[in-house]
Amino acid sequence: MNIKLESGIIFDPKNKIRNIRKDLYISQGKLVDKKDINGKIDRVIDCKDKIIMPGAIDMHTHIGGGKVNTARMMLEELHTENTSGHDSSSIIAPTTIKTGLKYIKMGYTSCFEPALLPINARQAHSEMSDIPFIDKGGYALIGNDDFFLELLKKKASQSLINDYVAFTLTASQCIGVKVVNPGGINAFKFNQRALDVDEKSAFYDVTPREIIQKLSRAIYDLKIPHPLHVHCSNLGIPGNYLSTIETIKAADNLPIHLTHIQFQSYGNNGDKKFSSAAVEISNYLNKTKNLTCDVGQIMFGQTVTMSGDSMSQYKNHKHAHPNKWMCMDIECDAGCGVVPFSYSDKSFVNALQWAIGLEIFLLVKDPWNVFLTTDHPNGAPFTSYPHLIKLLMDRSFRNDMFEKLPKSVQSHSILKSLKREYTLEEICIMTRSAPAKILGLNNKGNLTSGSDADITIYDKKISDIEDFFANPSHVIKNGEIVVNNGKIKKYTWGKTQVVKPEYDKTIEKKLKIFFEKYHTISLNNYKISDDEMVNLIGSEVEVNECLDKRK
Ligand SMILES: [Zn+2]
Repeated sequence: MNIKLESGIIFDPKNKIRNIRKDLYISQGKLVDKKDINGKIDRVIDCKDKIIMPGAIDMHTHIGGGKVNTARMMLEELHTENTSGHDSSSIIAPTTIKTGLKYIKMGYTSCFEPALLPINARQAHSEMSDIPFIDKGGYALIGNDDFFLELLKKKASQSLINDYVAFTLTASQCIGVKVVNPGGINAFKFNQRALDVDEKSAFYDVTPREIIQKLSRAIYDLKIPHPLHVHCSNLGIPGNYLSTIETIKAADNLPIHLTHIQFQSYGNNGDKKFSSAAVEISNYLNKTKNLTCDVGQIMFGQTVTMSGDSMSQYKNHKHAHPNKWMCMDIECDAGCGVVPFSYSDKSFVNALQWAIGLEIFLLVKDPWNVFLTTDHPNGAPFTSYPHLIKLLMDRSFRNDMFEKLPKSVQSHSILKSLKREYTLEEICIMTRSAPAKILGLNNKGNLTSGSDADITIYDKKISDIEDFFANPSHVIKNGEIVVNNGKIKKYTWGKTQVVKPEYDKTIEKKLKIFFEKYHTISLNNYKISDDEMVNLIGSEVEVNECLDKRK
């Protein structure tokens, strides 16, 4: 199918195109130059009153794997549509189909599950391949697994660690590596209840700092585009901004990405011993090379928290709402905790968390370094993105919301003094161009000829920012019009985005012995081949190139 998007206003920050009216051409799933169209144009969409951006990319959203399913089972009552037929309560842990429908209707065309446990990769990919429309990918969890910690304890060479990281990525069909509470989840299994950056785990005698150093180095050496994705130590603890800064220092300017940084930016000042450290953290983000973050904004209301960080989820269980929760250890790999939670605008802590997230968004200067997330569903369901964008783009709306918070919170936040309003271009960078860049997705997040025709078309006549972003007039996925005026026109199925760095296969000999001794499945059954992805799991694999040279 050949499509012409006629005379729309284009935002394509990668190509430095801002607010420029031009035609776009789509043929066989790709953006093309007019001269390269094969055959006649089948469809012309009049875009005179439209704003066109690349399809949005959610680089951190929990949409597949064991914890998501546990939340679905645990919160059965929240899936029930209410009497008006409105299904707002089912957005917290939606089914695979609803996940795809809600993302595509908001113009999101690629989403990444940030906590894919390699031992559960088969299940997670099977589930994600059932999500319609979007491309997806996973970040493999490494850093609390016994094999890796044993390597560190025995002072294994960096090259052996690199082989293990590359093997794990390849075997689990992932695009990046994430470390959650480095070493802490494992230490929890040995009854430690906290692990700061320079604290040793009792069993392995390893510190989180060493884990960050080794893993960030492995990713750099292997030329994996996505930097080490880090959920820092001491999540949610007052005063934890110091651990966050130490984690940044541990990487020693090698690329790292700090996820849901809002939960990692807490001071312990004031009479409530809980304060914002957004200024301190943003200063680091503004001055440190190769450092990016996503915010993990919270929104008020019911949600469910789900995390591999069983150490912190165990602490949180006393706040469970409704009052049920689970924590578990998972083989030799990691842990998991699911705790339902309701954020209240009357609570000092919750209201200040809301303000801290927004402070960071507004204080980090470069939108290429900060990404729009709610850590779905930990801070809020992803369906709140249009509302969040309005908070960033409209200062008076933001201040109106802020003034509704308890006075004690208002006096503890600088939010009202922050005059910045995000521009459309900056929103386009943080939701498209920058996530594509940091994931190494060369064919996404831009409107270059030859790139995937994943496109969101917004209606310029909608003046309310939240309505504008919630209701694109058209969404095009791989060259097909899948959404038109809120209606699904066609179901399509995206690909799984992966990287496959090279490594020395002799590491598999060591792993085979380890698997036979400790794991419930053999090494051969652990590995997922491309054939299995396509024929059994049901998703085509797209291999993204590793970087040839770093800047
Ligand atoms: Zn997360």
